[in-house]
Amino acid sequence: MLLKIENYQRDILYQRIDEALDKYFPLESFFSLGDKILLKPNLLMSARAEEAITTHPAFVFSVAKIFKERGYNMFLADSPGGFLDNDTLRQVYKETGMLNLSQELNVRLLYPKKVFVRGGISLCWWAKDFKIVNLPKLKTHEIMVLTLATKNLYGCISGKQKSFLHCQYPKAEDFARILLWLYEELKPPLNIIDGIISLEGNGPARKGKPKGLGLVGLSNDALALDYAISNLLSLDLKKNPLLNLASQKGLLSSIELISDFSHPIKDFQFPSTHFTYYLPSFLAVLVKRLLRFFPGINPEECIRCLRCIEACPAQAISLKGGAMVFDYRRCIFCMCCAELCPQGAVSLRKSPFLKILEWIFKNGKSKDYK
Ligand code: SF4
Ligand code: SF4
Repeated sequence: MLLKIENYQRDILYQRIDEALDKYFPLESFFSLGDKILLKPNLLMSARAEEAITTHPAFVFSVAKIFKERGYNMFLADSPGGFLDNDTLRQVYKETGMLNLSQELNVRLLYPKKVFVRGGISLCWWAKDFKIVNLPKLKTHEIMVLTLATKNLYGCISGKQKSFLHCQYPKAEDFARILLWLYEELKPPLNIIDGIISLEGNGPARKGKPKGLGLVGLSNDALALDYAISNLLSLDLKKNPLLNLASQKGLLSSIELISDFSHPIKDFQFPSTHFTYYLPSFLAVLVKRLLRFFPGINPEECIRCLRCIEACPAQAISLKGGAMVFDYRRCIFCMCCAELCPQGAVSLRKSPFLKILEWIFKNGKSKDYK
């Protein structure tokens, strides 16, 4: 279900989401009063609400209040990128507004204390013990094009293993397999996405741009919700690596949609990397190395905090002579450094060949390229 809600006014959010849940997804069909229920927002990094990188605190507050008023036992957790110690996570909870709402509504914040391993992947302990209410943020993603409900489950993987998985599965198609595995393993009973102010352009962190969409999506199926939003944003299914794979596996059948939006949104900006999905596949394979996007640092924005070195799964970044240096022979182009840089100092650079091809495609070779 796609609702139109224009801003983060708490009472309106509370009322609209509450009505939609009562009518289409009554909580008692998914949860019992004895359940431990975990709110799982997208808390990628320490960021303020207006940056649109994390799920808005007023949005999380409204959902939490609906559950609390019905007597449910509520908790909140995420596993942001990079090293995950309690101090880092406490700072993330504080900056993103989660600490305040937890105190206001008596929702307990959880910290990493142990992991459990399933299918060779270490998941945070709470992903096993709790029923998850998935609260993603609608954002672009330089590798996966969009990060919506299914991608938000990646935050259930513990600390640094997220970076190692990027290293093991650098291609979008392979990464999509991990996300589908998480979807089938965790199956959150309820997904409510914050797309009121989304992030377009080169998301999912500080290189993206906030964009008002006035959208709140609800579903008991994360993939169905992703599919509805991807369609609303006029993204061709084949250009979305996760949904393309889900469709091949027959996971996108029998989806019913109720929507306040009568027309698709045509002006949403996807990441600049997205352009490569419009190249004929034979060309992409033939000149793969020439078509690279690669990370680069703007030295004027860099404060030498070394977070990118900690986050890099390939040990491809070092500090030399007071400057951050990339070893592109080691780099797997996962863009973890860009996602976790607190200054937004890491950006995607295009190889000269890629710039030429992009120019050609933008100037009329491909009608659907935006
Ligand atoms: S994370 Fe960003 S600010 Fe920190 S050292 Fe790396 S590039 Fe510089
Ligand atoms: S340098 Fe950046 S893009 Fe390259 S592997 Fe390290 S984190 Fe990933």
